[in-house]
Amino acid sequence: MCIPHHPQYKKRQLQKAHDRAYCFILIVTCLFHHSLCCAWGFSAHRKIVDAAIHHLPSSLHPFFKAHGQWFHDHINDADRRKHNVIEEGRRHYIDLDLYSHSMDSLQDWFPMSYSEATEKWSEDTLHAHGIGPWYAVKTYHRLIAAFDRQEENAILRHAVDLAHYISDLHVPLHTSANYDGKKTGQAGIHSLWETQLPEMFMDSYNLFPSGPKANWIKQTSDAIWSSVFQSHACLDSVFLIELKIRHAFAGKSIDAYVVRGRTRQLMRSPKFANEYHTALSGQVERRMAAACTLVSSLWFSAWVEAGAPVMAAETPAKGTKWKKILDWLLK
Ligand SMILES: [Zn+2]
Repeated sequence: MCIPHHPQYKKRQLQKAHDRAYCFILIVTCLFHHSLCCAWGFSAHRKIVDAAIHHLPSSLHPFFKAHGQWFHDHINDADRRKHNVIEEGRRHYIDLDLYSHSMDSLQDWFPMSYSEATEKWSEDTLHAHGIGPWYAVKTYHRLIAAFDRQEENAILRHAVDLAHYISDLHVPLHTSANYDGKKTGQAGIHSLWETQLPEMFMDSYNLFPSGPKANWIKQTSDAIWSSVFQSHACLDSVFLIELKIRHAFAGKSIDAYVVRGRTRQLMRSPKFANEYHTALSGQVERRMAAACTLVSSLWFSAWVEAGAPVMAAETPAKGTKWKKILDWLLK
């Protein structure tokens, strides 16, 4: 029996309060850690999903539109999984420059099936260099099977993961071993390109340069690898232009505390980011628009491959109180 004024009781209450505070701090720390390390950042990933839904034809659009909030809530689940699924990390990138620095050689070798590639380089090598394109293809086939079985939960799960992996592969730095510029003295370039620039400028982007249109893709593996090569081809300018802006800032600080959501973070200064973005001449916008079109086209193609089943468009039930709290923390 516990006596409220007994020292032992007070000690236990204090311990409980301490445990609760520790859990809260842990959750908040994890959430902010996610917000700093996610490819494209939360808001850009969400914008890609919104645009991809908008690209869909009328036969498929209502189903995806009805689950728009669900897609917002789960678009970064793949990044969250990295903390408890050991093999998840390697699914988000491929370090093509570890295979070769020659684009001709890379395009001669890829696309190559996963089993052929393991024979040529060993599975350990593939794991070490990242398996992004192969895993995106695998997720695409899981989506076809989910459409075929008419399993709504599986359709949503594979569609949102496919959107995440494809979006990641449109980031040039997800195709290089120098993914954060550390090898060239440009540390921090990763979050600058894929998070800070979209957050600053994406409201002005045209993500439908040729109008909203999802295309049926016959050779999906070729299309995915082609987008990876396009990302990889951007790398030279990603690094060279950043270096040029750095030199222009010689003697001046390139960092500043920037208000981001409800926190202040040390990032590249808005002036530096602005000059880099201008010098990139629409590169981030083009990669983002390409991601929207490919995500949408792959959703549409998977549905066609499954025989174009009729999709019910019921709006799911609203989120719980806990979810609202999490949303508030993530804003
Ligand atoms: Zn990712």
